Amino acid sequence: MTQTIAVIRGDGIGPEIMDATLQVLDSLDVGLDYEFVEAGTGALESQGELLPQATLESIRKHKVALKSPLMTPVGGGFSSINVQLRRIFDLYANVRPAISFPNTKSRYSNIDMITVRENTEGAYRSEGQTLSEDGEIAKSEIQVTRKGSERIARYAYELAKSTGRKKVTIVHKANIIKTASGLFLETARRVAEEYPEIETQEMIVDNACMQLVMRPEQFDVVVTTNLFGDIMSDLCAGLVGGLGLAPGANIGEEAAIFEAVHGSAPDIAGKGLANPCALLLAAAQMLDHLGKQDKAERLRAAIIATLEAKDSLTPDLGGSGTTSSFAAAIAKRV
Ligand code: NAD
Repeated sequence: MTQTIAVIRGDGIGPEIMDATLQVLDSLDVGLDYEFVEAGTGALESQGELLPQATLESIRKHKVALKSPLMTPVGGGFSSINVQLRRIFDLYANVRPAISFPNTKSRYSNIDMITVRENTEGAYRSEGQTLSEDGEIAKSEIQVTRKGSERIARYAYELAKSTGRKKVTIVHKANIIKTASGLFLETARRVAEEYPEIETQEMIVDNACMQLVMRPEQFDVVVTTNLFGDIMSDLCAGLVGGLGLAPGANIGEEAAIFEAVHGSAPDIAGKGLANPCALLLAAAQMLDHLGKQDKAERLRAAIIATLEAKDSLTPDLGGSGTTSSFAAAIAKRV
């Protein structure tokens, strides 16, 4: 039976990179049907709301969504749609691979790691953020739970096990943030005991950042809390050549949303200059998630081969290709 996924074409460069991605997926013959739904500024204009009910229902029904970047209007009391989606579907694991690709602007050539970031608690809850009446004292509460720590640690170890990875690094700041980071570390250590075949390393976050820059090849899977994971995964994207190649998955029990890490790039929207690789790599993560690992591998191999051949690369990668010519070059190699 053909599986259907929800597809959000998004704002800015979103429609261009989504069309390119679906063109490559069609060449791969992935056996998926698409239900196109709207979110973001486009949805606000056509349906009067940023996150229409029909979009939520489609994600709930199909359990998997491929999503282009969305623009949240600045001001006007609009809260981020991405944060809303994470909350509504309890997408607790933010999974961000960082892999060195040929002919990309990077000092490193041997990085192959995945950051698994807790996506729902830590320092990023809107509750517990207060400002005193006189505006002099701001407080931000960090909430870490045993349950939240356990499920993210288990996700990281299961991911390592299922993908043949050898090591998990638990990144924390338990020496200073003794209760919140301490509970995360203690819980992750317990989970680690269940996976004796996987090496466990513990690292304080500041040292982890230095190690990432000095010797990134030592990392395999990193698991950490929300704020540290947000910052570290962007650092990792920078180590492998920037946003054009950085995909991310937001995974929960009931749904999973796959997307590029970058935003809607309004400065280049509509010009055919956007690099589709980040969304294509997110689509590869989605194929893994759907149990279509062979197709995912073919897709990644085609991207690597196209980069190696410097065939129709977009301007951010130093080429003079367009979004669609780059996608066509990848499509012919899948
Ligand atoms: P951005 O990621 O959109 O752009 C930053 C820079 O990177 C720009 O110069 C842009 O041209 C370039 N860039 C980004 N993606 C590219 C691609 N695929 N190919 C080539 N160049 C690319 O960040 P921003 O300008 O800070 O944000 C723009 C909008 O995107 C904002 O409204 C923001 O809220 C939204 N945003 C959405 C998401 C999401 O939906 N997941 C994530 C981040 C930002």
